Amino acid sequence: MPLSETVSSERGAGRVFAVVAVLAVAGYQLLPENVWARTAWQVAAGYAGTAAILIGAHRLSRDDRLPWWCFAAGVFLNTTGIGVAVVGERYFGFLDLPTPADPFFLALYPACALGLGVLVWRRDRRRDWTALVDAATITTGFGLLAWVYVIEPAALGDRMNRWAHATQVAYPIGDLLLLGMMARLLRSGGSRGASFWWITGALAAFLIGDSTWVVLGNLGDTGILLENARWFRRPLESVFLIGFLLFGVAALHADARHVATAADRPPARLGRGLLTLLTVASLIAPVLLGVQVHHGRVVSGWAFVFGSATLFLLVVARMALLVRELECQAAQVRDLARSDELTGLPNRRAWNDELPRALERARRDRSPVTVAILDLDRFKTFNDTHGHPAGDRLLKAAAAAWHSALRDVDLIARHGGEEFVVLLPGAGPAEARQVLARALAVTPLGQTFSAGVAVWDRTETSDELLARADAALYAAKAGGRNRITQSGELTAAG
Ligand code: GH3
Ligand code: MG
Ligand code: MG
Repeated sequence: MPLSETVSSERGAGRVFAVVAVLAVAGYQLLPENVWARTAWQVAAGYAGTAAILIGAHRLSRDDRLPWWCFAAGVFLNTTGIGVAVVGERYFGFLDLPTPADPFFLALYPACALGLGVLVWRRDRRRDWTALVDAATITTGFGLLAWVYVIEPAALGDRMNRWAHATQVAYPIGDLLLLGMMARLLRSGGSRGASFWWITGALAAFLIGDSTWVVLGNLGDTGILLENARWFRRPLESVFLIGFLLFGVAALHADARHVATAADRPPARLGRGLLTLLTVASLIAPVLLGVQVHHGRVVSGWAFVFGSATLFLLVVARMALLVRELECQAAQVRDLARSDELTGLPNRRAWNDELPRALERARRDRSPVTVAILDLDRFKTFNDTHGHPAGDRLLKAAAAAWHSALRDVDLIARHGGEEFVVLLPGAGPAEARQVLARALAVTPLGQTFSAGVAVWDRTETSDELLARADAALYAAKAGGRNRITQSGELTAAG
């Protein structure tokens, strides 16, 4: 099949499945109150989702399939759990936790978390600590919420055996795992096409469904009333169907091939949404404490201690990472401001900082110091003959060649245009001339420069010193170019 046909048939399959998914969810609302019909429908939808994920994965390159296989395994096992639960309950009377269905249900969490972990790993080639801290902050905040309202009450409730406890507690922990991985996925680099958002939607569906069950469980009689009301229960059960099917839609979408691809996006900004979420997560500990204080009894004291200490540490870590990044950027800006874009040499600003310092050092060390101004000869002609870009290349090559011909202690900077300045610490006139002659000899493309040299007289300022070098340069040009002229000399051969 030609590529265009392949692509359009792939799009077609994705669309067909999306329509099937919508019909499956809508049809579920209309089913009679027959437990077998409902179960069959749910299992069929879940297996259809699994099949869609596997088909979508099969179309991807071998390397991109692993996360989808994880999602498929999670959805398949969870769906199977629905059937196992009903059969176990009806035929074998399994009602007490843990039922044989629980391992199937629970398998969704590690399987999806593993798939998400692989996705995040592939999308972020550079390990992003800030994103990790954000995900940990959100998970810790909501983890505390889950601890106080679900995990701790389950642990405190008596009569249950250890396995029942573990099972009951495993669900909210699984949800926290998914929440953390989802937060991390949302903070990852890489493309954010339709497939990315369908995956996010599927995860959100599972989290919303699970949280609603938890809230129902905590509402007492109202909860039981709602649980038995068809208008409430059907949509709630559908939320999980939506989760299964959205994974399928994500896998079949043509964009699925980009989900596991890293992209060199600039680091995500701390947008208003994320900032709000981090604030809410960080405030959960004091708010819950306030609620318990209000009710006259702090039950979860240690949870608040550990929870808020962890959150404080995460906020400090976030702050430290931000400050470090800021310092890094400031250093980069500083370097950029002091270097010449074309040649990479220090620019005039850096030179103006460096020269007075060098004179001060020479004063203390009682050592000589010499400066020179270099100017390419007939550079305008070179530009006119070979073009401006070739002129740029010559400037770059010449800067590199001169730099390597100078001594390690020397400093060469671009003063502007085709004019360069050289600082030669410790060098008297003879040594300076020798070094500059070496530079003149390596000027690329048979080009030459004229140089004016001035040895510091130990009293003049930087400006005066440079003015003398400039005058010497003028003399070198007037004397015929391709030469090094020392201030005070009348003429000198190059
Ligand atoms: P002289 O030997 O007297 O120094 O002659 P010249 O042609 O080198 O001097 P002039 O000052 O007349 O011309 C300098 C030329 O340098 C003119 C300008 O277009 C060119 N120039 C300045 N900066 C750049 C640059 O960054 N890239 C290129 N390609 N040309 C530049
Ligand atoms: Mg010039
Ligand atoms: Mg010139």
